[in-house]
Parts: sequence; structure tokens; C-alpha cells
Amino acid sequence: MKNFNPADNIQDLQYFGEFGGVNPSISDSSTYTFLSAKTMFDTFEGNMEGCYLYSRHSSPSNLYLDKALAAMEGTETANVSASGMGAITPTLLQLCSSGDHIVSSRTIYGGTYAFLKNFTPRLGIKTTFVDITKLDVVEAAITAETKVLYCETVSNPLLEVADIAGLAKIALRHNLKLVVDNTFSPLSVSPAKLGADIVIHSLTKYINGSSDTVGGVTCASQEFIDSLKNVNSGASMLLGPTMDSLRSASVMKNLRTLHIRMKQHSHNAMYLAKRFEKDGLKTVYPGLKSHPSHKLYASMINREYGFGGMMTIDVGTLEKANALMELMQAKNLGYLAVSLGFYKTLFSAPGTSTSSEIPMDEQIEMGLTDGLIRFSIGLDNDIERTYQMMKKCMMELNVLTSESILTE
Ligand code: PLP
Repeated sequence: MKNFNPADNIQDLQYFGEFGGVNPSISDSSTYTFLSAKTMFDTFEGNMEGCYLYSRHSSPSNLYLDKALAAMEGTETANVSASGMGAITPTLLQLCSSGDHIVSSRTIYGGTYAFLKNFTPRLGIKTTFVDITKLDVVEAAITAETKVLYCETVSNPLLEVADIAGLAKIALRHNLKLVVDNTFSPLSVSPAKLGADIVIHSLTKYINGSSDTVGGVTCASQEFIDSLKNVNSGASMLLGPTMDSLRSASVMKNLRTLHIRMKQHSHNAMYLAKRFEKDGLKTVYPGLKSHPSHKLYASMINREYGFGGMMTIDVGTLEKANALMELMQAKNLGYLAVSLGFYKTLFSAPGTSTSSEIPMDEQIEMGLTDGLIRFSIGLDNDIERTYQMMKKCMMELNVLTSESILTE
């Protein structure tokens, strides 16, 4: 991992517009002309470097963003898509056929969970969901049919940490592909450097960072990305979750400030997590020593980008959680909204929103409680001021009592 700095890798890439513009020109075409029919045929066969055929396959703007995200993750190449799910679903369908099996973390984004639990069985692909923090349990779930180990670096919404290096060893031993969704921890964690085969992001979140678009990416070897884009058998090419060139150009511009944003998200989240925990609130944040995987996570991260901007608190009941979120929104401390990675703090109760696809009994089993609030901490300039205002809201609703504060 020495000398690997994902933000420097992005910064070192230089693209110019066709008239010397400081940003690359946007390819505003769905199809491309050829001077000779032979070149068109060769391009169709995938044998012409630098030629474009049709924008569902690739476009210059998308290739710029592919290159930047591959540089960030340290993979050979990448393929951007119209959403995070548009990256996850073709990747898994490319790796698995009818009769195959997946071992997945049970604490993953609700949409991914629903895809594996409800949709892929229709295609003959079965999934066993496990506690990803227990490597022996993960290994015991592998069968002769298993093709993929799937997890999120930091899980949604419980913020469990996957031991990527440990999982990579298991994957290698059993000849599986380790697929990691790194949406919660861009720059902080470099899963491919820890042994993951394929790294996925929902660009909708931190990487784009302005909550104005959905997008996704699969970062992997050239061989795998070529297979995804193959005109005869590639899941991305055939299912068609293509990102539009105008969007990839705008995501590219936002990517330029990701390192600054991640540092501020991490700084603010660490500040609030420490203060809330000290106040006696049940707080989960990988940067806190009380987090069960704190030491592991500290050893995995690229330190300067910190422990990330996601944290949870548990206020006991859904009613209290809802009242607190509504009050914080009324005081302009953030928005009651799903998603993450915005300049503004976003909060939601995952059990009734982003994880509502997970049946209630399974939510209870995995520790997803009613009073849980998931925070994506924003870029607030004065986080002590934010803390004081949030504390006031909590006191008003008896989430925090003056006694608990006085024990400071
Ligand atoms: N992965 C994670 C961890 C997510 O939180 C989400 C969305 O919330 C997704 C994937 C899906 O991304 P998208 O909404 O861009 O399809």
C-alpha cells in the first residue's frame, strides 16, 4: 500500500478540451462515423483502440471518468453506469449463471439485498447471507457452487467493517471473486489494494457529492470490464445501464474536490460522534474506540481521509427518532432524506427507509433497531455550533437529559 494515494492518482490525470479547454469536451453523440467500413467492423469486434462505435458501449466522456475512478481505486480500468444498482446488478450477473451461489454480507444496502434475496433466485442464483465480520462463518457458507463473496467495506446502515484482506485470502483459497461496494468509504479505503477483485461505487453519494444525479461504477481488471461490455455477452452492454456523457462530465468535475470533502466529512463526523458518545448516546462510528472493528478499520484506511462521514445514534424508539429528525430539519441542521455524501447533513431511520426491503425479523436479528438514526454528516464550517444546536434539539425531546450531559 506504500506510495498509493488515491487522490494524487486522480490529480495526476490531465485532460484537455479539443480547443485547449481546461475541462475535456463533452462527447455529445450517441453514434460515431467511420472513414472505412473495415474500421467499423474491427471496432465492433473490439479490435480498434481509440475508436468509438455507439455510446451505450463507450463514449469519450465516460472513458475519462472510467480512467479517473480506476486510478482512484488502483484497478486496471473501470466502467461507469447510470446508477449504483446499474453497476452492482450487471457485475453480479456477469460473474454468476444459473446454479451458482453467492455468499454475501447480511448488512448491505436494501436494494442490493432485495436483488440477491428476491430477484436472482428467479435466474437460479442463490445467496447465503452471513455476518461478514466473522471470517469462519463466511468460509463455512462457501459451497462447491459459490462464485462470489460480496460485501460493503462499511456496511449500510449498521457501519460494520469488512476485513477485506481476510476476505480476499478466503476468496483466493476457494477461487472466488471478492466484490466490494466501497460507496461509504471512497479514498479512505482502497479495497483493490487490500485484495478485492472488483470495487463498486454508487457515484450518487460522496463521489459526485452534490445530490443532483445518480451514477455508479465497477472498477476491475481490463479482462472483466471487457467481458461486461462485450457486444455478444456483456451484462452492461446488453442490459444497458449506461451513464449519459453530460452526467459523466459533471461527475468528473465534482470528483476533483472529493479529497477535500472527505476530510471535512470525516472531521465533522468524528467530532460529533465523540461528543454524542460522551453525552451518553448510543453512538456507532468506526472512528470511535468503542466500535467493535475500530482497530481493524484504523489499519485499513488511508489515514489522511479519516474514518468517513457516516454515523448512527440510537434514540430508543421510532417515535423519538422521527421527532428528533423533524426538529433538526426545522432548525436547518440537515434534511430528513435518504442518500449520503451531500454538503448538508442527511438523516433517516433506516428500518423504515433504505433498509425497509429487509423483513422485520431479519432487521431485529442483525441489530437494526427501531430508534436507529443514520447520519451522513455534512460539510458544516463550525461543527461545534452544529453540535450545540443538535444537543438543544435532543434536550428538548428528552433524548438527552441534563443529568446525562452533567456526567461529562
Ligand atoms: N450501495 C450502497 C452502499 C448504497 O447506499 C446505495 C444507495 O443507497 C447503492 C449501492 C445503490 O446506488 P444507486 O442508488 O446509485 O443505484
